[in-house]
Amino acid sequence: KRIRVAVIFGGRSSEHAISCVTAGSVLDALRNGTEADRYEILPIGIAADGRWVLAESPDGTGPRLAIADGELPEIGRPASAERASLVTMAGDPTARELTVHEPGSVPKSLGEVDVVLPLLHGPYGEDGTLQGLLELAGIPYVGSGVLASAVSMDKEFMKRLLAQAGFEVGPYEVVRPRDWATEEGRAAVRLAVEELGYPVFVKPARAGSSMGITRVAAPADLDTAIEVARRHDPKVLVEAAIPGREIECGVLEGVDPLDRPDASLPAELRVTGPHAFYDFEAKYLDGTTEVDIPARLTAEEIEDIREQAVGVFETLGCEGLARVDFFYQESADGGPGRFIVNEINTMPGFTPTSMFPQMWQAAGLSYPALIARLVDSALRRSTGLR
Ligand code: ATP
Ligand code: MG
Ligand code: MG
Ligand code: MG
Repeated sequence: KRIRVAVIFGGRSSEHAISCVTAGSVLDALRNGTEADRYEILPIGIAADGRWVLAESPDGTGPRLAIADGELPEIGRPASAERASLVTMAGDPTARELTVHEPGSVPKSLGEVDVVLPLLHGPYGEDGTLQGLLELAGIPYVGSGVLASAVSMDKEFMKRLLAQAGFEVGPYEVVRPRDWATEEGRAAVRLAVEELGYPVFVKPARAGSSMGITRVAAPADLDTAIEVARRHDPKVLVEAAIPGREIECGVLEGVDPLDRPDASLPAELRVTGPHAFYDFEAKYLDGTTEVDIPARLTAEEIEDIREQAVGVFETLGCEGLARVDFFYQESADGGPGRFIVNEINTMPGFTPTSMFPQMWQAAGLSYPALIARLVDSALRRSTGLR
């Protein structure tokens, strides 16, 4: 019997388009990879307004899921209420079913789903909300559970837990809605940021793909940057800029769940061209970012970062997969450099230019084999407390 895989993508976050591109690559690997015979695929899009739609017609045609000429893909909202297909979970956690509700007609069951691939980035997908829904429905899913997804998405709580566990994280200030609501509060924020020292990075607490992030070099630009970040999340982080090279490392749950998780080879990304940092354009659009896999580090440093990546994964209680982003600082005396954790992503990008699948490829795990491993560990793990 084939494994029925529901692939969910798009979503309500500002990373909607990137999720679509991720899904385009993953769907392609599921359909055309070496393991294609194992799967029956159910592609489900979530429109930007949150409506769920079957993203493919029976003849196999679906929406464009790639960036074409700089044009970002999007799951269209159902054209009219009459034609809308909303997909929701059945309330019965033993049924493991997905049901389509078309307004004006009887709900139609899509049958039992064996596993969900929640290929969503950002809030309402990578943050534990969808994971909670799947737990309630009793449907196994790829990746971290509710708690790990939620704390990993929230850069404040991620840093708190990691610092408490002894990982190095950079200095930062949290700007909450109340802090920004009065002139007094804003003045206090500006003062606290002076203490941090410019330049700073202003970012939404819960977002990704560099959405809403600004590098601020001088106090005059702070307020605007905070307002920009607040469009993505009412909670904002202001971080001291960390000098250093940017290195990322992938982590996968062990093939046996009692095994220690595996770390990929680390990758370094170098931002070239006009970008002040690894912003949205540099990530996905203009191809100016250079990548070294493995990163040019000593064998000892590579072991260190791989250890730390696994440590971060375990500290945050992650499952399935994650990508940990670090800054690397060379030591002054020629000894090993040190790694400062920037952040973690529990559903890293799987686009053709994404680091995560490339890092595993370099470590000897092909893209289809990677997807198969993720599906297998989700099935083995199932849902519930573990
Ligand atoms: P992702 O797409 O990886 O989820 P994100 O939106 O969660 O990204 P970050 O990884 O926190 O955002 O930051 C994006 C980029 O901004 C980093 O890769 C780096 O280039 C730059 N950056 C962020 N914070 C800092 C910092 N404190 N010091 C220096 N550079 C930073
Ligand atoms: Mg991130
Ligand atoms: Mg991310
Ligand atoms: Mg990042």
